[in-house]
Amino acid sequence: MFNLSTILRPHILSLTPYSSARDEYTGTIGVFLDANENPIGSTTDAGTYNRYPDPHQWAIKQRLAPIKGVRVGQIFLGNGSDEPIDLLVRATCVPGQDNLLIMPPTYGMYEVSAALNDVALLKVPLTPDFQVDTEAVLGAITKNTKLIWLCSPNNPSGNLLQPEAIRRILEAAEHSLVIVDEAYIDFADTPSWTTQLDRYPNLVVLQTFSKAWGLAALRLGMCFASEELIQVLNKIKPPYNISAPTQALALEALTQGAKKEGMVAQILADRQILAEKLRSLPNVQVVHPSDANFLLVQFDDAKQVFEQLIEQQVIVRDRSKVKLCEGCLRISVGTHEENERLLDVLGQMSQNPEEPIETSQKAAKPELVSKT
Ligand SMILES: *Cc1c(COP(=O)(O)O)cnc(C)c1O
Repeated sequence: MFNLSTILRPHILSLTPYSSARDEYTGTIGVFLDANENPIGSTTDAGTYNRYPDPHQWAIKQRLAPIKGVRVGQIFLGNGSDEPIDLLVRATCVPGQDNLLIMPPTYGMYEVSAALNDVALLKVPLTPDFQVDTEAVLGAITKNTKLIWLCSPNNPSGNLLQPEAIRRILEAAEHSLVIVDEAYIDFADTPSWTTQLDRYPNLVVLQTFSKAWGLAALRLGMCFASEELIQVLNKIKPPYNISAPTQALALEALTQGAKKEGMVAQILADRQILAEKLRSLPNVQVVHPSDANFLLVQFDDAKQVFEQLIEQQVIVRDRSKVKLCEGCLRISVGTHEENERLLDVLGQMSQNPEEPIETSQKAAKPELVSKT
């Protein structure tokens, strides 16, 4: 039986949170002399920001809950997903005693957050086809494993993890929180794990406004979990963690779900075209299947391709030194023009491997003969 209080660090259980002025008086009408704000106005003509924002972002949560099919109390909003990632570690893992488990290759922030908090890391690699090695995961967890991180669709591989594997871990690891990071869920053809929240009290789902919603600059991440866990996150977060402009813009964005869907559809169509064109290039070995808005692509000579792309001011992510991603670059799906530019540079490169475009780099592989 899952019992949240046995998972939390003891001092978190007994912590008295900071109580902000906006916590102690929640009315909206009155003379507000309780927060030491500037009563006159703001030093910008771009808007009025002299009052502290809603510490609990109720307006966004009320709009978000029906969209996501969850209750308002099951939502935590963070300054990017980075914030709930860090808060989950800090809420549960005693440094020098507890550990958390990740399945590389995966998103780097889980490991950074463990290191930052001096928390031990268990690594159970994904299988070569980037799926969960369920037996190895279940064999690796200890009584001190507080968090198990899953990323689906996974970054950098791009694929969804098999739901049966996630379900088995949720059911077997009943003394750990199992976090499913769904940053790319809008691009995937599958229901979100938020639909399973009432079934699994140890389930935590992360989503973000940074990808499909096109709001990376706002820094707004979503965390869905049991009401009990959300209350804990609220207790330990910085009081005003989401700024007023971010709240206002997110609230407006949530009325434009159709625009998001339209952009997702375009990106998915373009991903398909990009994947096919990449597969036809002679120096491309594998374009891994993707359920996200990027492609993991294995080249004959990834490092050289990466550098030549940079010479041409096309910037992709070099994952070629990452285990199981050897020789791979991670390429975000861009606009039509951006994808064409990428393909142009790659095409020229594979046509003239002996004469890399405007680079001082020589030494292309002799077997790279252009397809005619
Ligand atoms: C991009 C990404 C995020 C989003 O992070 P934000 O802090 O919300 O911008 C989260 N998880 C994964 C796996 C990502 O790739």
